[in-house]
Amino acid sequence: MNIVYKSDPERGRRWAALFAELAPEAQFRLWPEVGDPETVDYLIAWQPPDNLMQRFPNLKVLFSVGAGADQFDYAGLPPGLPVVRMIEPGLTQGMVEYVTFAVLGLHRDMPRYLHQQQCGEWQPHPVMPAARRRIGVMGLGQLGEASLAALTALGFSCHGWSRTPRDLPGVRCWAGQAELPDFLAASDILVCLLPLTAETRGLLNRDLFSGLPHGAALVQAGRGPQLNQPDLLAALETGQIRAAVLDVTDPEPLPSDHPFWAHPSIWLTPHIASQTQPESAVASLLENVRRFERGEPMTGVVDRQRGY
Ligand code: NDP
Repeated sequence: MNIVYKSDPERGRRWAALFAELAPEAQFRLWPEVGDPETVDYLIAWQPPDNLMQRFPNLKVLFSVGAGADQFDYAGLPPGLPVVRMIEPGLTQGMVEYVTFAVLGLHRDMPRYLHQQQCGEWQPHPVMPAARRRIGVMGLGQLGEASLAALTALGFSCHGWSRTPRDLPGVRCWAGQAELPDFLAASDILVCLLPLTAETRGLLNRDLFSGLPHGAALVQAGRGPQLNQPDLLAALETGQIRAAVLDVTDPEPLPSDHPFWAHPSIWLTPHIASQTQPESAVASLLENVRRFERGEPMTGVVDRQRGY
């Protein structure tokens, strides 16, 4: 097994140590020290190098170092090359923590109280019980499902929306465009955990916001280009949306004069909702390689037709 890692070099050194421990038989190399390129079987990357197949003519699988695989230019990849995104427990746990933090912060009105604090204002507002707060999660995949499990355990009234019908314990599930309006109407706090595809690009826009209950809140931890930024600012202006927690933007980072930075109703984090954790990721990747070598299906293979 000959593997090249091309991503953050510091984390790569952690990957190298874990490979040495868990798969000593593997040839694990950190880009750009790739050894004989003809012998490279697997590439783990956020961005593959240009002319990938000329560089590694015998490449068998391209693994994304992250949960998304929307960053790849598929036109430049051979149709038969499997592309696999990262599914690993550390990444899922990170997103569960972020979504729980953001939903609790919005549920307990923290943007408003932080603003009041800055104004020296001591003004309590009614506290709504979790059971009456409806949370709508868009995307019921690895991350959406795990986040909803945590939110149901906290007692929230949970709703979820996906492309195809799903069935999750304690969650009212909705599917497809036809059921989107009913799902939105039932979402006091909307959480986006969708992959970036042609269908989800720009989806968080004025039309969608107008379908939410007045004064709803938004958590955006999917991908930046899903959000129409002027439409969010307009919805915050009218109070249709009362606050937003944004982990992803377009571009990243935003320009220094962008209105999101100083907006009193926006919490902005620099794409840290969740990160691949080498300790658990190496084990997941090795399991996938073993499956591939045994001719079994891998987990997380991107369906290029579907776009995720
Ligand atoms: P999955 O592929 O496991 O799940 C995707 C979910 O989105 C599925 O439920 C799918 O529906 C649904 N979906 C896709 N397209 C549509 C659509 N057009 N309409 C309705 N539902 C749709 O992905 P993950 O849960 O692992 O990850 C989700 C995304 O989270 C990633 O793609 C990435 O963009 C983002 N992410 C962000 C991070 C951050 O730090 N901010 C970190 C990691 C991921 P169906 O079930 O029918 O297939």
